[in-house]
Amino acid sequence: MITSSSKVSGGTEAGLAHLLPTYARADLTIVRGKGSRVWDSDGRSYLDFGAGIAVVGLGHAHPLPLAAAQAQLEKLWHASNLYRTEPGEELAARLAQRFGGSQAFLCNSGAETIEAAIKYARKASGRPGVVALEGSFHGRTIGALSVTGQPAKRASFEPLLPEVRFVAPNDVAALEDAIDEDVGLVLLEPILGEGGVRELEPGFVAAAARAAPLLCLDEVQTGVGRTGTFFAFEELGVRPDLVTLAKGLANGLPIGALLVADDAPRALQPGDHGSTFGGNPVACAAACAVVDAIDDQLLASVRTLSGVLRRSLESLSGVSEVRGRGLLLGVELDRPAGAVVDACRARGLLVLSAGESVLRLTPPLTISAEDVAEALSVLSVVLDAHA
Ligand SMILES: *Cc1c(COP(=O)(O)O)cnc(C)c1O
Repeated sequence: MITSSSKVSGGTEAGLAHLLPTYARADLTIVRGKGSRVWDSDGRSYLDFGAGIAVVGLGHAHPLPLAAAQAQLEKLWHASNLYRTEPGEELAARLAQRFGGSQAFLCNSGAETIEAAIKYARKASGRPGVVALEGSFHGRTIGALSVTGQPAKRASFEPLLPEVRFVAPNDVAALEDAIDEDVGLVLLEPILGEGGVRELEPGFVAAAARAAPLLCLDEVQTGVGRTGTFFAFEELGVRPDLVTLAKGLANGLPIGALLVADDAPRALQPGDHGSTFGGNPVACAAACAVVDAIDDQLLASVRTLSGVLRRSLESLSGVSEVRGRGLLLGVELDRPAGAVVDACRARGLLVLSAGESVLRLTPPLTISAEDVAEALSVLSVVLDAHA
């Protein structure tokens, strides 16, 4: 019998066995985080160069979102979207200001922002077709999976949404070919994150902006300062109709936002879309504090540290290429990335992979030069040992 007082101690096999095995989890139970570090259940500390998966952008337990969320927890956790609440409106106003004129749909995850974008484009354009990229990642729900260009993730769940076409990143001719009168939406990640940290060329994105009835940039991973500007698209010279944000937006509390440009066609009316938890006051209060903290000084530091990291990474053994922008970097290796990720973890450094041979570094945007030096020294030892 399960009683309300039954307690499973941290990280027991018994507890793990009751989770569906959707992840190949490392045998590491993280119990606490502060700044760029986390601690495991044995008290060992790790330098966190994943920040979750590009989520904890200001670092663990950052005082500003922490104070904002705590104050909101004391006031109101939830009221539903049947009423107005202050944090959601304040967040939408801040995002509109950053975007330069937008309305937001607030939800709870990256995949939900993609679902909202697909519905928005269908209603606004009257056309069901979507053009997306080979190797892209947009989430795991059926709609988001339908526009994710990775056969291995899709295969067991077909049939998915019809009328989705995939083109190779940066192939302008293929993109223009794929857009016909059935297509309402072109969906692009400015930098393919899960798909190996591959950057789109400005010319390709500009062609998409010209040819697409509606262009949505999925900035779930690239947004909120990750690439050294608030939105990655700021450096691409386009203004998309739709933008999605999630991962870093509330520094670890669940949230997502679809932004619709003021000059995009109007589509949704009351009753067309919704989410019980969307716009949750606690998550939105934290997100307001995050947006306020992403100032010019922090963005400049992201760009500076990015340059330092990049140059040093390029000189490490086994590194054939370093891609990405800001603190979303992909390191192409001459060997499988998985063993390198494991060896780094054993030496107290958490990093991610993105595909077979790509290490992905997405540290908190607030890391110090000392953190960067420490990560580089671990990586250098590990790559030399695994040569
Ligand atoms: C992580 C990610 C998603 C999915 O976000 P979830 O919160 O896991 O649903 C969608 N798009 C991009 C670009 C992502 O990196």
